[in-house]
Amino acid sequence: MKKLAVVAIGGNAVNRPGEKPTAENMFSAVEEAMGYLVDMLDEYDIVITHGNGPQVGNILIQQEMAKDIIPPFPIDVNDAQTQGSLGYMIVQSLRNQLSKRNLRREVAALITQIIVDKNDEAFKKPSKPVGPFYSEEEAKKLMAEKGWIMKEDAGRGWRRVVPSPKPLDIVEKEVIKLLLKNDVIVVAAGGGGIPVINEDGRLKGVEAVIDKDRASALLAIEIDADELIILTGVEKVALNYGKPNQVYLDRLTVEEANRYLKEGHFPSGSMGPKIEAAIDFVTTTGKTCLITDMKKLKEALSGRTGTRIVP
Ligand code: ADP
Ligand code: MG
Repeated sequence: MKKLAVVAIGGNAVNRPGEKPTAENMFSAVEEAMGYLVDMLDEYDIVITHGNGPQVGNILIQQEMAKDIIPPFPIDVNDAQTQGSLGYMIVQSLRNQLSKRNLRREVAALITQIIVDKNDEAFKKPSKPVGPFYSEEEAKKLMAEKGWIMKEDAGRGWRRVVPSPKPLDIVEKEVIKLLLKNDVIVVAAGGGGIPVINEDGRLKGVEAVIDKDRASALLAIEIDADELIILTGVEKVALNYGKPNQVYLDRLTVEEANRYLKEGHFPSGSMGPKIEAAIDFVTTTGKTCLITDMKKLKEALSGRTGTRIVP
């Protein structure tokens, strides 16, 4: 029996650092990433999740520039757009990589909604900057007109901030399980999933962004995955990252992970959510989480590199 893994792919897999986000460049990056994932299919069934921060940001800029001609969509609809565009790039690249190796597998990307609590504390203190930068004058107008919350971002201008609530339940989880049972490679919960609230049985999108690492952990728990694999820009997690006394970690217990998180080794905008996701998955399931660079995935799966978070 193959093992089941949720594989979260980071920003690097979609946009190579320093490259313009043209469709051509993105396809090329995604196809490279899918090559690494296809290498694990002998041993694993996989569900692929991905981020969408930069892509949603770009849509918000496009909407802003065209707002006098076409009414802007709310963020939940933009999230759905990126699940579609990135999902398309992923499934096409995956099929191309599979056929290159003469492998026959079915592949599907699924629009995925994730329930959040409308009383989540995050709605009281929006924290996630999204979209373009504005002048103070424009920002004040937008706050008054649209009720947006905007903050000055490190001297670069004003930016909208949205809440990042905790993902609670995956609306399409039974569909994901059905697809897996039928041997389909599934792409789901793209961009952390589309945040929705459940109001007396009716679903409704909300303007928020769910962290993709947290959503990946929830998905891995809900489908009873054997492993959570988070692919990102580093081969291993480090203590004192980027400092002269940096040390890379091969193995990290949940207890150590919690301690180092409290000590500030894992920033909230980058490695923090991955470690939190790992802690969540490992604590809930008693299984392990692997964090590594996709280029090192093969080596990491055989235990030669990467960082493993263990009970
Ligand atoms: P992704 O797009 O995969 O979510 P992020 O940029 O959000 O990637 O987070 C991963 C990055 O976090 C790494 O590439 C690295 O630059 C940075 N990082 C911050 N702290 C650490 C740490 N303690 N160990 C390793 N990498 C870290
Ligand atoms: Mg990230």
